[in-house]
Amino acid sequence: MEGSFVGNKCFFYHKGQLVLTGERAAKTMYYLKIGSKDSKDFANSAQRIDSLLIWHQRLGHADSRNIRRMFTMNLVEGLKLGTTESDNRISPGCAKGKMHRLPFQISTSPKADHIAERIHSNVCGPMSYTSLGGASYFVIFKDEFSGWIVINFMKMKSEVLIHLQSLFAFLKNQTGYTIQTIRTDNGTEYVNVALSKWTTEMGIRHETSVIYTPEQNGTSERTNRTIMESAKSMMFSSNAPLWLWAEAAGYSTYIRNRIASGQKKLTPFEVLHNRKPNVSHIKTFGSKTFVHISDVKRKKLEPKCIEGYLVGYCESTKGYRVYIPDIKKVIISRDVIIDESVVGFNASLTNKSATDSFVSSVMDPFTELVNYIHYSSLMHRVTIL
Ligand SMILES: [Zn+2]
Repeated sequence: MEGSFVGNKCFFYHKGQLVLTGERAAKTMYYLKIGSKDSKDFANSAQRIDSLLIWHQRLGHADSRNIRRMFTMNLVEGLKLGTTESDNRISPGCAKGKMHRLPFQISTSPKADHIAERIHSNVCGPMSYTSLGGASYFVIFKDEFSGWIVINFMKMKSEVLIHLQSLFAFLKNQTGYTIQTIRTDNGTEYVNVALSKWTTEMGIRHETSVIYTPEQNGTSERTNRTIMESAKSMMFSSNAPLWLWAEAAGYSTYIRNRIASGQKKLTPFEVLHNRKPNVSHIKTFGSKTFVHISDVKRKKLEPKCIEGYLVGYCESTKGYRVYIPDIKKVIISRDVIIDESVVGFNASLTNKSATDSFVSSVMDPFTELVNYIHYSSLMHRVTIL
């Protein structure tokens, strides 16, 4: 078990879960709170975290029917639900972010037989707010067979080709399959000399909406809408500033790849990687998060923890993405303490354009970071048995 002291409070974690809290009673003495059923203190959050409502919020406000089904059919690791809870509890962010339930997808075209056989793609933007990283657009690629989604953020639409080439390399290296067909609309970001030249060289068939019928044009748009509605729900319910849209969209994409939607028996993750995804590390967007700076990386007298908000997950390094208001940046770290009992962004984070004062969105938390920060609370970590 690991403990952490913040101000007059102390928190104890077991395998990353908050299990016990206490309050300082005297200089070196703390009262530990042993939870009762009706108490709303932190200690009881450990009992509440497996509720369907919590999982609904963690999983980007996903359809509760899907979450219940994934649990019953054991489609993911690390998802535990109680059996008595109603599936119809009201979730605060959903009302604004998700005004309607999407119908399950009905495909009219023959389904792909293997990974990378057909990729659907769509560009969205320009967005009202420039993202933390300076992006105004995003491009989505969806593998028809697995349902695997890749999202990339762009300053210009012309960056589509670079991302398509990266996806080509990723799928080839990870699965052995090469992209056979890409299906898009007629936007100039797809219909241009450079993209045409590359797809021809690679032997990739490019289907545009001229070739396929409009009724079949829905996969990409539906994927975009699903991602954005999930992102909006998370942002509304956590009062996130709008320039964090790219973080929220990245978060929803990560989640969608780990959800078996409709009547599917496998998650996109499992189709691609041949193993079930583990979702036990997934916590609610906007949760208060403390990032630990290791002793090796930290100069003497500098604090061991910095405070921020959970905004996503890093697919490649298995780290958490944490927005740190003091430096106005997102950092990636595996060593965090997440307090899900405190979800929501401070109102002082306005919706003013994020790029006014900074450009880069990601940095190494262990280098220049500690030089920038003002610390308001004394904090340290201890390890106990
Ligand atoms: Zn919801």
